Amino acid sequence: MGGDGDNPNKMKKFYDSLIQQGTKWFDKSKKAISKLDLKKTFSKFNIKSVAGDKRFNIKVVNKKRFMINMAALSVIIVGITYFVFANNAFSVVINGVEVAKVKHKETAEEVITALKQSYEKENDVEVAFSSQISYEKVNASKKELLEGKALEEKLKGHLDYQVKCAVIYADDKPIATLKTKEEVDKVLSGVEQYYTKGVDLSKIKEKGFSEKVEVKEEFMDVSTVMNVEEAQNYIINGTTEVRIHKVEAGESFWSISRKYGISLEDLQRANPTANPEKIKIGQELNLVVPKSLINVKTVEEVTYTDKIPYEQKLEYSSSMYKDQTQVRVKGEYGEKEVKAEVVKINGIESERIILSENVTKEPKTQILVKGTKEPPPKKGTGTFITPTRGTVTSRFGYRWGRNHNGLDIAAPVGTAVKAADGGEVIFASTSGNYGKLIKIDHGGGFVTYYGHLSKISVKVGDKVYKGQTIGAVGTTGRTTGPHLHFEIRKNGNPVNPSKYL
Ligand SMILES: [Zn+2]
Repeated sequence: MGGDGDNPNKMKKFYDSLIQQGTKWFDKSKKAISKLDLKKTFSKFNIKSVAGDKRFNIKVVNKKRFMINMAALSVIIVGITYFVFANNAFSVVINGVEVAKVKHKETAEEVITALKQSYEKENDVEVAFSSQISYEKVNASKKELLEGKALEEKLKGHLDYQVKCAVIYADDKPIATLKTKEEVDKVLSGVEQYYTKGVDLSKIKEKGFSEKVEVKEEFMDVSTVMNVEEAQNYIINGTTEVRIHKVEAGESFWSISRKYGISLEDLQRANPTANPEKIKIGQELNLVVPKSLINVKTVEEVTYTDKIPYEQKLEYSSSMYKDQTQVRVKGEYGEKEVKAEVVKINGIESERIILSENVTKEPKTQILVKGTKEPPPKKGTGTFITPTRGTVTSRFGYRWGRNHNGLDIAAPVGTAVKAADGGEVIFASTSGNYGKLIKIDHGGGFVTYYGHLSKISVKVGDKVYKGQTIGAVGTTGRTTGPHLHFEIRKNGNPVNPSKYL
């Protein structure tokens, strides 16, 4: 919007038009002068015509005529100058294009100011024109001049405006535009609340954004302005894309993650408030994996009790076989009071800094004994050992109206059951009243039975040595309590085990 005359180009244009006008008038006036009574003119100047010397005569006349013309021209220039200034107009130039002609610059300026005010009222915010406006002095006929409504419409069509906004910057990059700083505050605190749902605010020591977040007032196109909710969602998701899945009957978090090719973790990140175990039919799940543009960092100071693991010491015993181990002293966990700083990004723990540890209970070292003795050969020796430790509750023989084929030894469930002699496992499965049963063939027609087991540790075909653990005491099959039912059979017939042990 430069003033008149400060632009040399404009001046040149102006003078060019002046000269053009002048030339026209000069031509017109030449015609007029040629009609003047030359004799009268000459006599005024007291110059007598010299008859016969036409050339001289013409020369003189031309000189006089030139002077007359010059005088006339002066008058004409004054006239033109008057004319030009009397008909002075301005063209309104927007972004280098002439859009209207006005009589006075002020006419356009007033319309532009009114337009600005109406835009401000419409948007309820300060506006600025982004278009370049300037004025040029021109000649215009009355018909060409615009004013009032017509001028307003013409300018409206060419003027682009921007509104004053509050722009959120994260690490020097603009990420969202809002109308006011108050709205920005709402957005930022909304994002913060969203990410601190799982954070104990009473223990918070520090809270802030991971990025450098700034708010700047700038003029922006009105189309870029978001409302509070839009901006908040955009910042959290890193996109305005919306993809929703409505839960249908029979679906689970897992099946939905498979259906859309999203990992379970990502689906959970996209739905931090949904409980993966308890989704309901009709519930809407977000399928867009968020890539937050602003991340919330919190530091909590927490105290808690933590376990201290125990150590294990190995001891050796020559009274046990090489493949046997036994816990002599059971290990126990210790306890400590821990004070720590927990750093969370968007509510998810990213770092834990231990500030202090106070041991309240020392752990107890476990002592494990390992055998060194070479085990006996895995074949029958002809003698038997008692297969488990416990109390004999029922002996071999006739009882309660029927024959008891073995020996019942009561012991807690899980007590080790050992092979009474070396041999080969010929049965290791469930069998009617016996429950879980192992049969071992020792050769020489001897087979032993181990019934009601809770656990079988061998399989058919295994060679075992005398004293090797083969299973554990239980209550499977027909029992009244945990015990081992032990039989010795010779050539298929049960014999009294007490006679062999
Ligand atoms: Zn029995």
